[in-house]
Amino acid sequence: MENEIWKCRKCGMELTEQNVVFDYLSLNFSEKLPRCPKCGRVFIPRELANGKMVEVEAQLEEK
Ligand SMILES: [Zn+2]
Repeated sequence: MENEIWKCRKCGMELTEQNVVFDYLSLNFSEKLPRCPKCGRVFIPRELANGKMVEVEAQLEEK
């Protein structure tokens, strides 16, 4: 991931990279994502979200 600095649209706070745990279709996985230290909102880059969801769905189909 590039060293882009993102800001929260709501608070204007610079986002910090944090380990975020997802719960998706009863599967758990974590990813380092930019998160607002004030309101806790997580920003997911579209490419990452799409890639991860496709990966999870592929895993489910294999079972
Ligand atoms: Zn915020």
